[in-house]
Amino acid sequence: MSQTVPPNLVSRTWSHPAEPPKAIPDAADIVIIGGGIIGISTAWFLARQGIDVVVCEKGHIAGEQSGRNWGWVRQQGRDSREMPMIVESLRIWRQLGEAIGEDVGFREQGILYLIDNDTQFERFAAWVKAVEHYNIGSRLIDARELGGLVQGTTARWLGALYTASDGRAEPHKATPALARAAAREGAAIFTACAVRGIESSAGRVSAVVTEHGTISTSTVLCAGGAWTSMFCRSLGIRVPQLRVRGTVARTAPSNRVVCNGNMIEGRLALRRRLDGGYTLAHGTTLEHPITPSTIRFGPKFIPALRMERRNLRLSLGRAFVDEWNTPKRWSLDEQSPFEKCRVLDPRPNRRILRQIREHTDVLFPELAGVPIVESWAGTIEMTPDVIPVIDQAEALPGFFIATGFSGHGFGIGPGAGKAIAGLLTGDGSGIDLREFRLGRFFDGTPIRPQTSV
Ligand SMILES: Cc1cc2nc3c(=O)[nH]c(=O)nc-3n(C[C@H](O)[C@H](O)[C@H](O)COP(=O)(O)OP(=O)(O)OC[C@H]3O[C@@H](n4cnc5c(N)ncnc54)[C@H](O)[C@@H]3O)c2cc1C
Repeated sequence: MSQTVPPNLVSRTWSHPAEPPKAIPDAADIVIIGGGIIGISTAWFLARQGIDVVVCEKGHIAGEQSGRNWGWVRQQGRDSREMPMIVESLRIWRQLGEAIGEDVGFREQGILYLIDNDTQFERFAAWVKAVEHYNIGSRLIDARELGGLVQGTTARWLGALYTASDGRAEPHKATPALARAAAREGAAIFTACAVRGIESSAGRVSAVVTEHGTISTSTVLCAGGAWTSMFCRSLGIRVPQLRVRGTVARTAPSNRVVCNGNMIEGRLALRRRLDGGYTLAHGTTLEHPITPSTIRFGPKFIPALRMERRNLRLSLGRAFVDEWNTPKRWSLDEQSPFEKCRVLDPRPNRRILRQIREHTDVLFPELAGVPIVESWAGTIEMTPDVIPVIDQAEALPGFFIATGFSGHGFGIGPGAGKAIAGLLTGDGSGIDLREFRLGRFFDGTPIRPQTSV
């Protein structure tokens, strides 16, 4: 029998307090702002080279996007500009558990985009052709082959776009495990340690000011996820970025296997979890709470909004007032906005949760008896062309930015970490980062999103 979602079921996974540091160092080679998968992967690559790196996280490791995502590690459907980095990232994921001595739940179980019309078929066929030279094995499969990969369903699809070399991993495990590995290699990682701002001397970075004191450094990476635009604005650096909210749920462990990897169609997205349960989400709906940033950056986001017009629900409410009331600059010896909100923990949308339950039960009747035991929401951040910014700020030498990973940053995280570490040291990584320049939004380069959030 079909079950409803208990109305008060909201995640408690992120409610525990983080441990503040007893002391912080006076100086470091590199300071990273943000303990998500981007900041932590970068720290891991740097520490392995013997570089003295410090990570400051205002809440706890993976408390925001990196611990709340669906757990898809995918090359499939990527923007062509991200392909070299995601292919490298998959290579790293395959060896990650062994390299750090912990199971992060990575399993190469493939990803399926289910097809129910000819337009989708043509779009996916064009994508397969465009990425052929990466040899990742993406291909279109028919309904018969699909039947071996998705079982117990009432639906009939024409086929699917399938990449067997894609995978899944556990978001609540991966970044904390990488953080422990980075610490073993010598990185200093501090939680409950908000960075309030940057000091400069002779026109370049000279120190990072945290709520617990100042760290002298010549190099800073801002990997602050959804907070990056606001942090950069306080330094006079413009980073166009908007937020969207995604609602997610997970079921109790189950021995009913309807799909062992990841699958998505219009109504439902599903990932098999390491514990045997499923992480579930709506297949298309995302929400954008309108804020002053929507108006400020709106014109640059028109191509992305046009592309997402069927999937995006706009709302006007509390988020507008909250952003309006947040100061744009603050004194570095006073509490900053980053200490006032340790963890972005939006409420899941109950209507979407009900739809997730209904769609699961209709598509997979075998799962109707498997209860949803947790639900949560996450704030995804995106740039106008839905690919990241990875660059040094022209206006402030020594200040680097890595943000805007959109709904695809978990999978690409280790590859991005390697690339960013190469950028920070100046040694390079073999991954070309020119497409990720911040300046592309201001120098007349056409803004062309290729994929959705
Ligand atoms: C619902 C949802 C589903 C998703 N699904 C997928 C998926 O299946 N696959 C995929 O690849 N990606 C997915 N993503 C996207 C992915 O999670 C993100 O792109 C990725 O985690 C971004 O990592 P990050 O390190 O840049 O940001 P975050 O994980 O958000 O980390 C940034 C950190 O910086 C900290 N911070 C900010 N400002 C300061 C400051 N001033 N001082 C100290 N600390 C600060 C924050 O507290 C935060 O912890 C999803 C995201 C969501 C929300």
